[in-house]
Amino acid sequence: MKKNIAVIGYGGQGGWHADHALKSDVLNLAGIYDIKPERNALAESRGIHAYASLEEVLADPAVEIVTVATPNDTHLPIVLAALAAGKNVVCEKPVEMSLAVLDEMLAAAKAAGKLFTVHQNRRWDVDFLAMKQIITEGKIGAPINVESRIHGSRGIPSDWRCEKEHGGGMILDWGVHLIDQMLQLITDPIDNVYCTTTHITNKEVDDGFKLTINFTTGKTAYVEVGTYNFIALPRFYMQAENGSALITDWREKAQVAHCLAWHESDVLPVQTAAGITKTMAPRDSVTMETWEVERPVSDVHDFYRNFCAAIDGTAEQAIKHCEVRRVMKVMEAAFASAETGARVAFDENR
Ligand code: NAD
Repeated sequence: MKKNIAVIGYGGQGGWHADHALKSDVLNLAGIYDIKPERNALAESRGIHAYASLEEVLADPAVEIVTVATPNDTHLPIVLAALAAGKNVVCEKPVEMSLAVLDEMLAAAKAAGKLFTVHQNRRWDVDFLAMKQIITEGKIGAPINVESRIHGSRGIPSDWRCEKEHGGGMILDWGVHLIDQMLQLITDPIDNVYCTTTHITNKEVDDGFKLTINFTTGKTAYVEVGTYNFIALPRFYMQAENGSALITDWREKAQVAHCLAWHESDVLPVQTAAGITKTMAPRDSVTMETWEVERPVSDVHDFYRNFCAAIDGTAEQAIKHCEVRRVMKVMEAAFASAETGARVAFDENR
């Protein structure tokens, strides 16, 4: 049977959740609530029930799931109230701005005996899934270095995302997705984190960042978000033990190169503009094979399908609390590194 969901915050993302619920095979949209009357009126004009208050949502016994899609700094009281009212809760990312507050939410969920998760919907991104598939198949071996970039050229949206007090900035907005994906691609323990931020169009919060995650095994991950990049660098680049993989753009297929023979007895030097080189000589089909990976099939409805199954006790939650905590810890370390200009040691056991 479909589960009744109410969405708190009917802005851009709340609208997405409401539309998504209307098309879902596991959800029934009970209604929305937004602090702004005009947003409630808009929902009503679309045939969606608008509750008069958060209290009215939480008092409705039909509502089983509350999804919180309000600005980042407003999540905590809504999450706590919904859990205390006996609702299962989905909170938008970034769930919070500190590990301490996230832990408060997790403790509240445990005390209420209700399920709580974070909407890390970009686990269903096709480009990320293609990289995951290449690693899992193992043909080019384990990753040595993975680079994940999102480059746009429009600055930060001119809303609360520009302001620190509301949890603005790109580490919290996009970083949370890319870090979450990266920690699925390289699962080794983290040794330290180094991060720098940019403030080209916004002084108050970061409008981009460059984050290096060093793992104890020597592997490295690089995550970069830019909002002032009029030419974008590739979405994903991976160096692995026996080859490389590249996704130029999220609309494109992954390209894979597999090294067939490392030692060549006789590499012919190639002529470049002002000299010759053997080191950088391109490979041929004798020593390297290449192929494209079909874009994996993905359905983001699986996020709520999984959450509903977890409520019924028939599946494990796809987005685990320990994973959400680890992403939060990396973001905390990234902020600390950007502030001090130094590498920040990572404590896996905190
Ligand atoms: P938005 O500004 O478009 O919408 C926020 C809405 O929340 C507004 O309509 C506002 O009136 C309402 N609101 C504010 N405080 C409220 C309160 N206390 N009670 C009820 N309503 C309240 O913002 P957005 O882009 O929709 O972002 C909302 C959340 O969704 C943020 O946490 C953001 O990071 C997240 N988000 C996630 C994704 C994703 O892909 N997972 C994409 C965009 C945004």
